Amino acid sequence: MNPPVVLSSTYVGTAPPRPGDLVYTRLGTETWRPLEEALAALEGARLPGVVFASGMGAISATLGLVPPGGVLVVPRHAYHATLAAARSLMARTGGEVREVDIADTAAVTRALGGALGRADDGARDRAPRPAAMLWVESPTNPMLEVADLPALAQAAHAVGALVVVDNTFATPLGAQPLASGADVVVHSVTKYLAGHSDVVLGAAVTNEARIRDHLLEARTLGGAIAGPWETWLALRGLRTLALRVERSQANALDLARRLEGHPDVVEVRHPGLPSHPQHARATAQMRGFGSVLTLRPRGGRAGADALVDAVRLWVPATSLGGVESSLERRRRFPSEAPSVPEDLLRLSVGIEDVEDLWADLDQAVRRAARQTGA
Ligand SMILES: *Cc1c(COP(=O)(O)O)cnc(C)c1O
Repeated sequence: MNPPVVLSSTYVGTAPPRPGDLVYTRLGTETWRPLEEALAALEGARLPGVVFASGMGAISATLGLVPPGGVLVVPRHAYHATLAAARSLMARTGGEVREVDIADTAAVTRALGGALGRADDGARDRAPRPAAMLWVESPTNPMLEVADLPALAQAAHAVGALVVVDNTFATPLGAQPLASGADVVVHSVTKYLAGHSDVVLGAAVTNEARIRDHLLEARTLGGAIAGPWETWLALRGLRTLALRVERSQANALDLARRLEGHPDVVEVRHPGLPSHPQHARATAQMRGFGSVLTLRPRGGRAGADALVDAVRLWVPATSLGGVESSLERRRRFPSEAPSVPEDLLRLSVGIEDVEDLWADLDQAVRRAARQTGA
């Protein structure tokens, strides 16, 4: 019923290894396989996934598919470490990073360059160099912008760019990007897939053997290999993914609706609210709207900090996708994008009773407003 956790770092052998032989654990171990097959099944991939020591391990290996001097188009509100890794890699390899509003399909298409990005007067020499890779996050972290993936994938492929989707927020239950044209899907397994805030792990999934070979080599030589216990815990977490996501998504939508009418709340963002700029797109392209919402309370940054101090059931902490609800003011990190408002709180909604979650949020929002005199 359950795959074993194999802790051995090496395997007995004398002959030259044949393909698929187990030799040394950095090269491969049987503990990874069940999780890699489960992730492929969830994403609808023909080849097994590739697990990494962290989401960033998978992301760095995937960014390595951009050739030296290549152009990478990324959402300006991508996960902040993804942006940092992209900028640092492109600076070292003579490449170029173009940051875009990933919800603005026309702007992304222009940034992809090539014939599609040509100036309106058709002057060929003014067309920007075509991109080698389009990076997509949807919904983005933390601004929750929703991308039109089929349209973006088509535009990217027209200029010969690879399409990568960080599917951490939507989960494979909310979106299966390979079916919409993505070449690679990456995950921070740390979040919803493992789901219990006790594992750091990542994965990449693709249908192309050439890309998978690159990822395997990057893992073997980069050394960001998944530990056996983490892999086993993630597989255990995966068994309840559907139940957890169903509950946390329902909680998130319910809370977003209630917060939108709260007198002490300035703005609520959630793809499931009709007020979200890409609500129609999210309705058409996602199954469910995800379990993250953002909130700007009255009182600006001080109000947001007071709210975080006032919660008792919600956990003030970074990360997301656990069974427990947590929240944080994103700009407390100097690395967060300056276009993210100072007073923006990101809420990761868990699977607790929604009335308990609401009661705690409501009292915290009120208390913060009183304290800041807003
Ligand atoms: C957390 C996160 C990552 C990074 O994953 P780690 O497992 O922390 O390395 C990447 N992308 C998104 C969208 C994330 O939320």
